[in-house]
Amino acid sequence: MSVYFRANDFANANVAGMHGYVPGQQPQDEGWVKLNTNENPYAPSPKVVEAIIAELQEAGAKLRLYPNPTSYPLRVAVAGHHGLEPAHVLMGNGADDVLNLLLRVFAAPVASNWGAVSGGMDGAVALGAGMTVPSYSLYSTLARAQGTNLKEVAFDASMRLPLEGIVNSGARLFLLTNPNAPTGVAFSPEQIEALLQGFKGILVLDETYAPFATTNAVGLLERYPNLVIVRSFSKAYALAGMRLGYALASSEIIDLLDRVRDSYNLDRLAQAAGLAAITDQPYYTERIKQIRQNRRAAENDYDRRGWFTYPSEANFHFTRPQTPSGLYGAEVAARCFEFLKKERVLVRAFPAHPLTRNFLRISVGSESEMARLAEVLDAWEQSEG
Ligand SMILES: *Cc1c(COP(=O)(O)O)cnc(C)c1O
Repeated sequence: MSVYFRANDFANANVAGMHGYVPGQQPQDEGWVKLNTNENPYAPSPKVVEAIIAELQEAGAKLRLYPNPTSYPLRVAVAGHHGLEPAHVLMGNGADDVLNLLLRVFAAPVASNWGAVSGGMDGAVALGAGMTVPSYSLYSTLARAQGTNLKEVAFDASMRLPLEGIVNSGARLFLLTNPNAPTGVAFSPEQIEALLQGFKGILVLDETYAPFATTNAVGLLERYPNLVIVRSFSKAYALAGMRLGYALASSEIIDLLDRVRDSYNLDRLAQAAGLAAITDQPYYTERIKQIRQNRRAAENDYDRRGWFTYPSEANFHFTRPQTPSGLYGAEVAARCFEFLKKERVLVRAFPAHPLTRNFLRISVGSESEMARLAEVLDAWEQSEG
């Protein structure tokens, strides 16, 4: 290795200058109460396992063959679940794959490749992507990888929808998480509709957590051709390990996304698993009911400790640890995080932002996981005297 060569010098400038997304910790050893990445505490439908085994019959003979390129049978089932046509559905290798495609298609790299914007945009749409802060930080990583501009619209501590800020963002593509992450706060379909009446770009609603909420915006798709809804199988369907997500949108938008999609982005096992899951709604309805019950119990537990918690419509809480003497803040949150971790209870901290650093995001786990959490939090409170 004597030839001088630095690959970084050859990389696109935006990539050379960026950091990759940092996912939540995924410990590979046993014994953790894992409440840091909002996975489902319950197993997927037993029909999912049956479908995967069926796909592996005859010593895996089917694995020789490429999967269905557009995941067609799965798209039919997803469309049916939402009362739509398959032409309105695009499958992704996780919701993250879909988000990546959206940036690729609608957020041009700076100073090049701007398509002509026609009809009713009033010249107001100039930038690439937009997002609220705080929200899912993958959005900004994807924007950097794409080399596009990113407009950030700040929440205030109320975490209410910054409607004016989004309308005036000038973004071609705005990414909004609903229910929001990391707060769990949900915006009503009426608020989303008001936003769609003002915002002239493409609104991407990341509804990864919508199955845990009481409302969603699917009903708005018919009237707002600039709306894209993104869903995931990772949380509500307990399939984070299979990598399945999808977009719901006009057939025109789906067609654009399809042009840049990897032709075989969902493997055979993922397609079989997704199909079994989406067609077993009775199983998931029961599990989600249980998760909502656990969510209410967790909220009561944080209340009892005097912790401020945002009202959550998701499968996690954004809560502010407080000592028995009433102290809170970034140091208190950090001490609580470390105490939990030492006891092998993993939650998520966001120390980088003033609106998030006093808080912890704690997933809603199973009854026994939440009991263990409460026990360790009792011990932490005692240690804080
Ligand atoms: C977990 C999460 C995703 C990722 O979904 P995958 O299907 O696992 O890629 C997307 N958006 C938000 C807001 C999430 O919390």
